[in-house]
Amino acid sequence: MLKNFLKNSLLFRFGILPFLVPKRGSVVVTFHNLKSSDFSWFERVLDTIQDTHDIADPETLIVGPEKTTKKPQLFLTFDDGFRSNYFIAKNILKPRGLKAIFFVPRKFINLTDNYAEEFAKEHFYLKEGSTVDLLGDCGAMNWDQVRWLVANGHSIGAHTDTHPVLSTLTFDEKYKQIVISSGLLEQAIGRTVRFFAFPFGNPASIDPVSLQLVIDRFDYGFSNVRGMVNEGREKRVLLRQNLEPGMPAWLVNAIITGRLDWLYRKARVELSSKVNSLHSAEINSGRH
Ligand SMILES: [Zn+2]
Repeated sequence: MLKNFLKNSLLFRFGILPFLVPKRGSVVVTFHNLKSSDFSWFERVLDTIQDTHDIADPETLIVGPEKTTKKPQLFLTFDDGFRSNYFIAKNILKPRGLKAIFFVPRKFINLTDNYAEEFAKEHFYLKEGSTVDLLGDCGAMNWDQVRWLVANGHSIGAHTDTHPVLSTLTFDEKYKQIVISSGLLEQAIGRTVRFFAFPFGNPASIDPVSLQLVIDRFDYGFSNVRGMVNEGREKRVLLRQNLEPGMPAWLVNAIITGRLDWLYRKARVELSSKVNSLHSAEINSGRH
């Protein structure tokens, strides 16, 4: 969650921001539900991004180290399986030849609007205090739309069955939400699923057991802690930069160049200490 005071702060924009040094390197950005009234904002964001970054196919995350392009790479991700994400892919990403990862909670897909709204209220907005104002805004994709994304070269990522706070679950529940769920997702789309996004993605929602299950099962787990790709690539738990509808271009630019990351240092330390404890436990138990 972006510190709200920044958004309209002239002091921040003109007094502090110019002194913050941009970070180098690739970055992953996250979007959630975008209303149709946000689509023109989204197109402007793509233009802003492409001034400074190459928007790359997320599959290149698996292939290996970053390509040596003039601009750093940027990877697009969309969380939660909203129908609006499909319309964006069809009407905005496709004409521009851009690919993204769509992280879908399996049991949200195919819900009719009434059930989708209930699901969104119950499972997506636990603490955010977000309001669901229009029924159509939180409509879910159906499986045909998910398969259209696959057929058009996008990646589908796992996002559990019901979007729980994983750290509050028993081991069996975690296994079901992470491992079993992704197997069923693979069956539904006919493709291997290699990416996983932690629901909510803040350090408190991510526990070592879930981390271990994700690292064993997927090529990459995606958090929602702000940072750059190179800060998580080696340990395979990536940091992401969330972008919210209405953010002005200067703020989008500040975020994707990591200039706000210092505000989220505590969260990065908390997450990386969990990830590191896992890796040292593996070494101690003689696993690679
Ligand atoms: Zn989510």
